Amino acid sequence: MSCGAAPRIVMKFGGTSVSNLDRIRKVAQTVKRQVEVGCEVAVVVSAMSGVTNQLVEYCQTLNPLFDSCEYDSIVATGEQVTSGLLAIALQTMGIKARSWAGWQVPILTDDAHGKARINQIDASALIRCMKEGIVPVVAGFQGVDHCNRVSTLGRGGSDTSAVALAASLKATRCDIYTDVDGIYTTDPRIVKKAKRIKAIAYEEMLELASVGAKVLQTRSVELAMKEQVRVQVLSSFEDHDSSKEECLPGSLVVSEDEIVEKEQVTGIAYSLNEAKIVVKGIPDLPGIASSIFAPLAEANINVDMIVQSSGTNQTTDMTFTVPKTDLLRAKDILEKAQNIIKFNQLITDENVVKISVVGIGMRSHTGVANIMFKTLAERSINVQVISTSEIKVSVIVAAEYVELAVRALHTAYGLDKMND
Ligand code: ASP
Ligand code: MG
Repeated sequence: MSCGAAPRIVMKFGGTSVSNLDRIRKVAQTVKRQVEVGCEVAVVVSAMSGVTNQLVEYCQTLNPLFDSCEYDSIVATGEQVTSGLLAIALQTMGIKARSWAGWQVPILTDDAHGKARINQIDASALIRCMKEGIVPVVAGFQGVDHCNRVSTLGRGGSDTSAVALAASLKATRCDIYTDVDGIYTTDPRIVKKAKRIKAIAYEEMLELASVGAKVLQTRSVELAMKEQVRVQVLSSFEDHDSSKEECLPGSLVVSEDEIVEKEQVTGIAYSLNEAKIVVKGIPDLPGIASSIFAPLAEANINVDMIVQSSGTNQTTDMTFTVPKTDLLRAKDILEKAQNIIKFNQLITDENVVKISVVGIGMRSHTGVANIMFKTLAERSINVQVISTSEIKVSVIVAAEYVELAVRALHTAYGLDKMND
């Protein structure tokens, strides 16, 4: 069977998929199957699971203020090992293959070592390699800067390597093999009825990723959206033929127009990483919001949801959320600015959860937010803060309700029955 008109695919394997030699042999089988059905395949690999963490720890132990160029040359080695091992495993099965380090491709990046961005990929050598019937196995996560120094793309960066390569190779699809079989409607650990999403829009994936579903590096999704790369997330722990899209084994991340049935809500995410701050009794005067948020912005504290509500005697209350890790700093900054902000009381609360419902269908369905409020009210769950975007409604509620709320919302939006 062939892969269709332009049978070129990028297959990326994450750390757990290549964690030992047996798994690497299994990956080689998966690659072999695609080669044998006539696809032109380029492979991208991560380091064996745990290896990058170990390498990072070596650097930190020697010197917590390590030189980031050296850090990159050290942590990039994990992927280089895997690419060589997979090339040998493929050769052993009779498939021609060779490894490619980032600089050999070359994958050119900026010089922000440790979190570099890809500037350009010259894919011509890889294309020649594939045309000669040799499978290129590219070390993910790494590139080279304009001074010829090895760079890395930030943790989880081999997803971005794969998507960037797929874009420059004009691949039909970028298959990301991982240890889960796709993107779910919500966290299956708390909702047994969570379902695999067959197709999700880039924008939805970005909203879900930013609130806690960490299957793909966020940057890789942004890049896929920009370059219109079709991404398929699938498990390397199951046998399937990814060339048969009609019986999709994983989740496709694609552009909105490819999604036929636009559910009002596609997925529900939650995050326990935020804390709430209430600044009470501030004089209700112009410029007051800026007196609160300017010093926080200066300190690089990311403020997420904001509500202003009127208090008594021409005063107002400002409620907002910040990352939990920044709460103490934020509190300190606000207390120091008391003489400018002139608040009566500063209340902070770490026992909160942010729950978000996401769906491109919200653009055309009305009443989506109301279902959320009604469902939570029926369970006597008090909504403390609300924020909305075109395709997302988020609320802050007490952390103890996370499971109850997510389950109830999953049912209310009809997600328990999806895909059945
Ligand atoms: N090995 C790198 C990491 O652990 C990159 C990746 O796996 O995507 O962050
Ligand atoms: Mg990853």
